[in-house]
Amino acid sequence: MNGTITLTIIKPDAVENGNTGNIIAAIQAAGYSIKAMKMIHMNEREAGGFYDVHRERPFFNDLVSFMTSGPCVPMVLEKADGNAVASFRELIGATNPANAAEGTIRKRFAESIERNAVHGSDSDENALREASYFFSNLEMVG
Ligand code: ADP
Ligand code: MG
Repeated sequence: MNGTITLTIIKPDAVENGNTGNIIAAIQAAGYSIKAMKMIHMNEREAGGFYDVHRERPFFNDLVSFMTSGPCVPMVLEKADGNAVASFRELIGATNPANAAEGTIRKRFAESIERNAVHGSDSDENALREASYFFSNLEMVG
């Protein structure tokens, strides 16, 4: 890989609402290339493991039940120029769509602070951990 990577998930709300294609188009229009992608339906162990850092938070159980409520689409994204993690978090907007800037993915597609359409890694270290949580080396291109 030449650029830096981040891990996103098109969450079950956005898949259910038929926004998978619109979100992928917005991501590609913003200059990211897709290095890996699949559709999965996580069980509680899988979703809980992904959000392990939030296990003690009051919203953890609801978050796991939301993330297991239907299929989602994890993707590894590469940005050739610049910091994929930070720039992608700008593209998606604030966790709560009520606070997200106009034109951001969460402003356009999220329903609520929980059902907020997409995930974005918060550091390079977590991007690598999250990418390998969902994908093997064989599933990641170049
Ligand atoms: P982000 O996804 O913006 O990095 P966090 O890592 O803080 O946000 O939280 C992980 C996910 O947990 C959020 O994307 C959202 O789906 C859910 N979440 C966060 N805060 C709350 C909350 N106060 N109530 C319900 N769900 C929440
Ligand atoms: Mg986070």
